[in-house]
Amino acid sequence: MSKKPLVYLDYGHYIGINGHCSPDGQLHEYLVVRQIGKYLKEKLKKAGIAVRITHPELFCLDSRENDLSERCIRANNWYSKDNTDHECIFVSLHTDAAASIGWSDASGCTFHVCSKCSVKSKTLQGSYLRMFNYYNLLGNRKGAARVNDFYVLKHTKMPAILVENLFITNKDDCKVLSNINEDNRLVVAHFAAIRDYFVSIGADL
Ligand SMILES: [Zn+2]
Repeated sequence: MSKKPLVYLDYGHYIGINGHCSPDGQLHEYLVVRQIGKYLKEKLKKAGIAVRITHPELFCLDSRENDLSERCIRANNWYSKDNTDHECIFVSLHTDAAASIGWSDASGCTFHVCSKCSVKSKTLQGSYLRMFNYYNLLGNRKGAARVNDFYVLKHTKMPAILVENLFITNKDDCKVLSNINEDNRLVVAHFAAIRDYFVSIGADL
């Protein structure tokens, strides 16, 4: 029997900690990814795809509770129970930034899986690549599908991906990032990629 789809959404950074900021100070990574997550969650739920958020911060302002390791432990604990009747994925949301100071030419999204990832993680990465290409979100860099042993990718047990949602240091990318709503291209592309993945592995949609 096929399993129900379930997404663990991870907001990358705790409030104000270690996240990127646009050169004009208008956009902050931790806020932008929460806006993307808010509308994505609504869209997924309407389509019958359940969502859990790895950050407890609405109720808990303790930064330790929002720590990378705590978020992985939380997701793994959920997964140990959810796995019996759900197809689970972990999606970590970030924005990219150029190393140089000020506005950058670099633009576009990238999709990261870890070097020892499962076949399903690669399938998920393929769905992301196709859909973000379709919605013209790959920007000016080659090779959006990346391998990186980021902490949350290495320490989560379910298929997992980390998405860099455009460059917060690129002016054109910031136009997309500053206007997040349910019709925003990023939100729509995430929804399409996640849905495409669950369809391709035969989840019960
Ligand atoms: Zn980040």
